[in-house]
Amino acid sequence: MPHIHRLSDLLVNQIAAGEVVERPASVLKEILENAVDAGARAIEVQLEQGGVRRIRVADDGCGIARDELALALERHATSKIATLDDLERVGTMGFRGEALAAIAAVARTGITSRAEGASHAWRIEAGREPEPAALDQGTVVDVADLYYNTPARRKFLKTESTEFAHCDDMFRRVALARPDIGLQLAHNGRVIHRLPPSPPAARVAALMGDDFLQHAREVQADAGILRLAGFASLPAYSRASRDAQYFFVNGRFVRDKLLAHAVREAYADILHGARHPAYVLFLELDPAGVDVNVHPAKIEVRFRESRAVHQFVFHAVRRTLAESGAGRAAELHA
Ligand code: ADP
Ligand code: MG
Repeated sequence: MPHIHRLSDLLVNQIAAGEVVERPASVLKEILENAVDAGARAIEVQLEQGGVRRIRVADDGCGIARDELALALERHATSKIATLDDLERVGTMGFRGEALAAIAAVARTGITSRAEGASHAWRIEAGREPEPAALDQGTVVDVADLYYNTPARRKFLKTESTEFAHCDDMFRRVALARPDIGLQLAHNGRVIHRLPPSPPAARVAALMGDDFLQHAREVQADAGILRLAGFASLPAYSRASRDAQYFFVNGRFVRDKLLAHAVREAYADILHGARHPAYVLFLELDPAGVDVNVHPAKIEVRFRESRAVHQFVFHAVRRTLAESGAGRAAELHA
């Protein structure tokens, strides 16, 4: 008869890492979102070897106090929610308190942080006491040698260029969502993106290209409880793949069938089925109207009023395209 026993904390975290830490890009996502939640105005990312060798993110946010550094690396420890009520109207990117614990279980992880008002910084590594360190402000999270202790997972890593491409995409999502934050990305010592804080349109142009912006219409719709803003391409800029489709809900990049369908329907009359529009769209609504706690990576969402959301997005995009004359132009070409 097999005996039941409790798993060690490390193993529990390594199991959880299976969901949270799929690849270097998922580590980058979690650390970037933590910097955003910390109120950073500037974030600097350094990657080595597609993020497998190293992911280092420096921010100028609120920092972590010395006595809370060990907690930051613990599972189910967070500064972002305290009650069920908080969970139901969460406004931060994170709230599950599990990312750093999961990351630290599968990579050599260090945090150096200087809390607001502290006389100097502290550095911690998992399982150790904090040690005094030097840092002007904010936090540096350093994640090295991903999966060094879990060889089975390391086998699933793709080539350096593929892993870098995923990291780059993750960086772009955060950069599109937060044009107000200055962001930099370097890979193997080479600067790939240097983005000063800018108005939304300038940030979109920097990341999607001037060409996209010239062939896109601005979407602006406000129904009080639902608001949609952003840019949607005209048919002339359509693409063979869905690679340039970004949808954000309350600042969070999501992949959602309902939203994708609403946009596709808006293009149904003007775009051939094999062609795909490019868009960057931001939907804002009361956090209580959307459940983001569907999956650890929070890339899926559930809307309380999904029909109303679908209708709103569909009409907003279709109206924008119709006003631009895209619909009529397409009819003339037919
Ligand atoms: P969550 O983001 O869900 O709270 P994490 O494991 O990602 O969980 O982080 C745990 C805690 O560590 C956060 O709640 C936050 O208090 C702190 N933290 C992590 N990264 C930073 C950062 N860059 N700046 C300030 N605090 C941070
Ligand atoms: Mg987090």
